[in-house]
Amino acid sequence: SDILVLDGISKTYGMGGPAPVPVLSDLSLSVARGEVVALVGPSGTGKSTLLHIAGLLDTADSGRVLLNGRDMAGQNDRARTEARREELGFVYQFHHLLPEFSAAENIVLPQLANAVPQSAARARALDLLRWVGLSHRADHRPAQLSGGEQQRVAFCRALANQPSLLLADEPTGNLDPATSDKVFDMLMGLVRDTGLGALIATHNMELAGRMDRVIRLGA
Ligand code: ADP
Ligand code: ADP
Repeated sequence: SDILVLDGISKTYGMGGPAPVPVLSDLSLSVARGEVVALVGPSGTGKSTLLHIAGLLDTADSGRVLLNGRDMAGQNDRARTEARREELGFVYQFHHLLPEFSAAENIVLPQLANAVPQSAARARALDLLRWVGLSHRADHRPAQLSGGEQQRVAFCRALANQPSLLLADEPTGNLDPATSDKVFDMLMGLVRDTGLGALIATHNMELAGRMDRVIRLGA
């Protein structure tokens, strides 16, 4: 069963203006449960644009976006926001953790926004941190963590509300190769354990080759 289906997606920035930028043309892809799909291609080929469309942050000019079988393309902003909060998790190249909050608190906050009670949210945060080997860092602030640790916390935060689809844009892009490898192995383990689907943009061809499938843009 597919978590995400993009069907015939096209996108041009500045359509109708003096300098339209065609980025995606009739692109289709799917992500199944438990599957990690790599999105590769040179800079400027539309990887971020595609992740924004899949993440319901931007809309395509044409094509369908099916999330767990539901076509989100025609839904209103409220339905898209709700689906984003309940079904999607995001990880970026830079972690964007809140600096004044601890690792655990950074994972608790998105759950409170989803009306999870404080004690349950804290328990889940600690579970996630244990999963990625960071129990001993729960009460540390981001600045007290290494780059690899910060990025592992960012993954925990993305998974806090048990999304069905994880979208990641260069999630290991600012890490050294050894740390990047460790974070990647952790990610693969999380996907295998949870049956989540993941779509991951990366420049790292070695990592892409270890994912289940590779989709190339700009070929
Ligand atoms: P990638 O992630 O593969 O580097 P992007 O999706 O960021 O590619 O960008 C694809 C193309 O679209 C680039 O040429 C970029 O300059 C252009 N682009 C991205 N966002 C916008 C925007 N908001 N307005 C106009 N052009 C954009
Ligand atoms: P990694 O293998 O994840 O890259 P590092 O070798 O960078 O880890 O860091 C080793 C340990 O030092 C980590 O457990 C980290 O929490 C701690 N550490 C790293 N940077 C800082 C810092 N600025 N303040 C406090 N502790 C730090």
